Order: sequence, then C-alpha cells, then structure tokens
Amino acid sequence: ADPSRNGPIRQVRKALFSYVEPQADVKEPAMVAYSDDAAKELLGLDPEELERPEAPLIFSGAARMEGSVTYAQNYGGHQFGSWAGQLGDGRAITLGELLNPRGERWELQLKGAGKTPYSRHADGQAVLRSSVREFLCSETMHGLGVPTTRALTLVTTGRGVWRDMFYDGDPKQEPGAVVCRIAPSFVRFGTFQLPASRGEAERPLVKQLADYVIKHHYPHLERGEAAERDAGAEASSSGEGAPAGGYNKYGALFKEVAERTARLAAKWQGVGFAHGVLNTDNMSILGLTIDYGPFAFVDAFDDQFTPNTSDPTRRYAFGNQPDVILWNMVQLANAFIEGELLTTPEAQELLPAYPLAFGTEYRALMAAKMGLPEYDADLTTTMFQLMKRDSVDFTNHFRALGDVTTGLDEQSASEEELLAPLEGVLGRSEKRSDWADWMRAYLGKLKDAGDSDSDRKKAMNRVNPRYVLRNYMLQNAIAAAETGDYGEVRTLLRLMRTPYEDQPGMERYAALPPSWSTKRGVCQLSCSS
Ligand code: AMP
Ligand code: MG
Ligand code: MG
Repeated sequence: ADPSRNGPIRQVRKALFSYVEPQADVKEPAMVAYSDDAAKELLGLDPEELERPEAPLIFSGAARMEGSVTYAQNYGGHQFGSWAGQLGDGRAITLGELLNPRGERWELQLKGAGKTPYSRHADGQAVLRSSVREFLCSETMHGLGVPTTRALTLVTTGRGVWRDMFYDGDPKQEPGAVVCRIAPSFVRFGTFQLPASRGEAERPLVKQLADYVIKHHYPHLERGEAAERDAGAEASSSGEGAPAGGYNKYGALFKEVAERTARLAAKWQGVGFAHGVLNTDNMSILGLTIDYGPFAFVDAFDDQFTPNTSDPTRRYAFGNQPDVILWNMVQLANAFIEGELLTTPEAQELLPAYPLAFGTEYRALMAAKMGLPEYDADLTTTMFQLMKRDSVDFTNHFRALGDVTTGLDEQSASEEELLAPLEGVLGRSEKRSDWADWMRAYLGKLKDAGDSDSDRKKAMNRVNPRYVLRNYMLQNAIAAAETGDYGEVRTLLRLMRTPYEDQPGMERYAALPPSWSTKRGVCQLSCSS
C-alpha cells in the first residue's frame, strides 16, 4: 500500500473517522493462532478458512478483502485524568463490517496495521508481546463470561518493530504482529468527547453519533422501550432508587450505558481483573472490555494492586476501578451536555444509575462467589482484609471456598479441621485463628442458607474460575512465541475457553504462580506495546 494515501498525521475536524488503507509492513506474515469460536459463533466462518495461505496476508493488512471499506476512528479522551485531545485511532484500522448468517453485524479491526492521521508520534505498529496479550485475554474474558471485544486472528508480520522496553530503557527490536479484533462497535466514550470538546463547530456530531449508536446498537431505545434487561441478569439494576423516567432517548441511552458499564465493572471485580489503563478512550459505549494493555488478573489479593508500572499514583488500581469508572461516566455526561443531548439537571439525575447498578450487580456476584443467598457485608469485608494481610491468591481462594462443607460443628471443630478446605491458599499464616473465626461465621451463614454442599459447590464453580490468564502464563507463551513456537499460545487459548471447568492434565495452570514470576520486575508491565 502507499503510505501517502492516508495523508499526514493531523487534527481531523468535523469527522468521526478517516478513510485509510492498512499500511502493513510485512515480510513473511504467519498465523500464530486464530479463535475457532470467534470465527464460527460471530462470523459464521469455517475456521478452516483461516488456514488458507492468504489468511496471514489479509489479517496483517497486506492483502485486501473484497468489498472491505477501511477506515480509522477519530476520538479523544482523558488520559490519567487530564484531557488529551485527539487520540485515535493511531493504529487500529477497520476492515469493514460483516453480516453473519443470523443477521448480526460485526466490525473487524486490525490493530497494528500501520499509521493513520491519528498516529501522533507513534509508528502504527504493534509488537508480538502485546498482541499475544490482547488476543488471549479477549478470548479469556469471553470464556469467563465478561463482556469484551473479541479476537479472531493473531499474525506475525516477519518484521521487527523498535520499542523502548521499560526494564532497561534501551530501545530494541521486537517481532511485529497484528491482531484482528471483532466487536459490534468500537465506539468509545472518547468518540463522544472529542466533538463535544470542539465547541460550536463540531457539536452536531455528538448528536449524529448518538443517533447512530442508538440506531445500530440500542434500537429498542428508538422505540421508546425501557432498557433491555440481559437475559438472566437478575442483578441488573433499574430497580429501586433508579432515576425516574421522563428524559429523552439520549437520557435512556446514557442510563443504559451506565448500567452496562456498571455490570462490566462488577464482573471485573468478580474475576480479579485489573484493566490497567481506564482512560476514557478505553471505555466502550457498549460496556465491553476494550483495549488490552498493561492489564493483569490479581494473584495475591491487594486492592491497591496496579499492574501498570507507568501509573505511580495507582489511579487505576484494582480496587479503584469502580470509582474511576464513575469519573469516566461523568466525562461522558459532560459530552452529552456539551452536545445538547442532556441538560445538567438531567445528567445529575441519571448518573446514580451507575453506582446503583454496580452495587446491585457486585453484591449479587459476591454472594454467588461465596455460595450465600445474599451479600454479607461483614463477612465479605473481613475476608478481603484477611486476604490482603496474608497475600492470599484471589482466584484459588474463591475456588477453594467451594470445598467448604457444612458437616462440621463450627463451635467444636479444631482450627485444622475448619481451615482444611483453604489449606492450599492460606500457606503458613501466623494468624490462623483470625481465619478460623471467619470460617466459623461463614459456616454459620452457610448452614442458615441450608443448601446441600454439592449443589452449592456446583453453583460456586460456575462463578469462581479454576483458571485465569495469569501474567506469568502470558510471559511463558510470549517467550516461546518470540522464538517461533506458538504451541503455548494455542494451549492457553484452548484452556481459557472453559475456565470454570476442571480440565484433566491442566492442573499446573491452576497452581499458584511460580516464585520466579512474583519477583519484582519480572512480570511488570508498561503501556509500551
Ligand atoms: P492506549 O493508551 O493504548 O489506549 O493508547 C492511546 C492511543 O494511542 C490509542 O488510541 C492509539 O491510537 C494510540 N497508539 C498507541 N500505540 C500506538 C502506536 N504504536 N502507533 C500509533 N498509535 C498508537
Ligand atoms: Mg486505547
Ligand atoms: Mg493500547
């Protein structure tokens, strides 16, 4: 492709996107992995198609698919709390939309296929390291039941990309790669914010964008229907205390975005996922997990856990996510106000939809994770305090709770007996008597609930994963992939399809992270990608 076709890097006014051509710098592109599930379920595509020799060319951006209309989105955002102006998309190029046999529309996007008008100082490329992470974590989140953009393919370009690695500061070449990701839409909070920030001249774009998003992604709001309830998501809000009605369809849109985003945040807290960079350009208008960068699943529990080494104030710490997302909701509200979609009083009335929905969903999820009929604030808070004090593994702790049995008499049982189910996660805590006290209270609540141990365990195992995509696993898969061995990437992809099920022969992936990986610096992550 001809790089000049995309024009210079510039401020693009009065437009929400620019037509661009992928500018893939490829030598010998190769397919590292593809997601069978995404191909079949989303696109109605026979995965065998992705084995064809032209697939790496198409999904690196080196060859065109017939009928594709390629463009890059224009959006802005707040980065770490400061308005950053026009940001994107500097390296994600949409290939077009595909209608599957069910009539659903999916947008396909290449990440790392070259510069666009929005690339600012950067090169439009992506490296294998960060592409493996995005590819695998997208599919893991789907396996975990967390709303997310999906990944179709991961292709190496056969070219090197210069990166400033954070651990030694010296630039080095890393293998280049491209992920093809899929979502109904990649519109972000920042897509609304940018035209809203540009005043009079671009204000009409805010409304145009909202109309587009409603028409294609929230069509029930056009018909004046109340927010769609996720099937089976009893925890979703719109219950007591929810904002009263009476606002227009933009108010209804804001409320539903708030509720979807709240349910997403609760699910992250439930699986121990720290996104790492919750800037407003990384907030999906559909409530999807989007833009996988320095994310991590919490190993040893710490609410202040911050995977991104470039976040010294811990703005995006695991435990801060629900609050910082509220801050992001306020920025979206401001854009709606600037765009004259909502008045300030309307926005103030609508914003509580977020904390209300979050609280409802979070409490229901925590209760389910603990096998209790309803959320117990004392029991939960004490548990997290002890987990933090004793660095207890988040994932394995919840999975182990499913092994607690109510046959014991909590008053006469010994500490050993009480804590036997948690043996694998507590280690040699000096203050086991605190845990024993907690377990006595927990057993009391479980007995009050009266469910059979086996029923409770089954239900708990559906919300407490056996496996999550820990950083050390990614690290191993990346190291192998960088030598051309893609086996581990594919193994993890397969494992994470069903992370709630015990998988024979895969026990090692359910173990605590190895000691090498918990040493400072080994698994640290930066925004460099
Ligand atoms: P992020 O913090 O990853 O969300 O990135 C913020 C913005 O920077 C994104 O919207 C991208 O458009 C842009 N960006 C990140 N990396 C690159 C790159 N290597 N080349 C061009 N643009 C990039
Ligand atoms: Mg981003
Ligand atoms: Mg990124």
